[in-house]
Amino acid sequence: MASPVDFDHHASTPVDPRVLEAMWPWFRARAANADNLGSLRGRAARDAVEAARAEVAALVGADAREVVFTSGATESIATVVRCFARRGTVLTQPTEHRATFAALDAETATPALLPVDGLGRLDLDALPAALAAGPALVSLMLCNNEIGTAHPIARVADACAAASVPLHVDAAQGVSYLPLDAHAPGVTFVSLSAHKLYGPQGVGALVVRHGARRSLAPLIPGSQEDGRRGGTRNVPGIVGFGEAARLARLEGAPEAARLRALRDSMATALLGSGRFARNGDPVDNHPGNLSVVARDVSASRLLVELAEEFCLGTGAACAGTGGESHVLRAVGLDADARRGTLRIGLGRDSTADDAARCAARLLEVAARLAGDSC
Ligand code: PLP
Repeated sequence: MASPVDFDHHASTPVDPRVLEAMWPWFRARAANADNLGSLRGRAARDAVEAARAEVAALVGADAREVVFTSGATESIATVVRCFARRGTVLTQPTEHRATFAALDAETATPALLPVDGLGRLDLDALPAALAAGPALVSLMLCNNEIGTAHPIARVADACAAASVPLHVDAAQGVSYLPLDAHAPGVTFVSLSAHKLYGPQGVGALVVRHGARRSLAPLIPGSQEDGRRGGTRNVPGIVGFGEAARLARLEGAPEAARLRALRDSMATALLGSGRFARNGDPVDNHPGNLSVVARDVSASRLLVELAEEFCLGTGAACAGTGGESHVLRAVGLDADARRGTLRIGLGRDSTADDAARCAARLLEVAARLAGDSC
């Protein structure tokens, strides 16, 4: 039986074949510990890690020395958020990823929250007063992993620079599709994840702006990563992340346009039927995201009906099965709308045919199920 077509790219992206090709030698033929500098193999692994570091830095306009490799965005976020939560209030917003709230919980810290509207858009008018209250850190996602809404990072960064408050950007989703400059005034930290950009799972990075290093304590102490993150480096993973970052930098802009066109065609078909309504900001968003509410139908039933043809989601993968979405609650969806919410995540391997077929099948099954429940 053919594998279902993947429309869940926010949960994880498949490793690009070019990335896999780059990683392959580092598992066996060239396998080494990148800190074993007494051996030629170790030095070659160190050079490969440094080449990857330059690529990851280039993706967000940072300097290679500012990049610290981690196990993923969750670890990067925890490193920054936990450290600053010990010093004062962290200012964030209610639709942030669970990784941020888990890091705050670990420090029993209560964040200050900037309000969002029904589309998940930040209330920028509330920012000056919130900054004037003197938070230790502002932490914001580049765009939301469930409803796709993008945040105005450049404007927030300007305000943070003026208030001398460090800004951490969780850029796990949307990097290379949405503008992000790690060297923009005000941006101090950026968290990245390889498996959201066609790299392997279990690798990420924390970009720490020059001058901010002393404000952070490592979450995992040790000598590796110049004393910033302990533990043997995942050389194949890091090499893969470097290649994925290089491809994202070179191909991100045309791919964003392609995804937006595909996504918009699905949106037109689904919304035009009157059976689906849209979540999130229809203007500023992740170009591969389409979060919709199926009217009078539970999304989990739709997912089950279509499971053999399409892999779709109801919300964040990390919420687990049956987990309630804090994002959908935060934007004010009632229980019926939350139950009806379906997340479509298009990606590099999504074709126009698949998108059209998925929209058509969703309409067909939603109509049947709505009829069932009458
Ligand atoms: N932040 C956002 C916005 C995400 O979507 C995710 C992953 O779902 C993470 C953080 C955590 O990333 P990782 O899986 O690399 O730990």
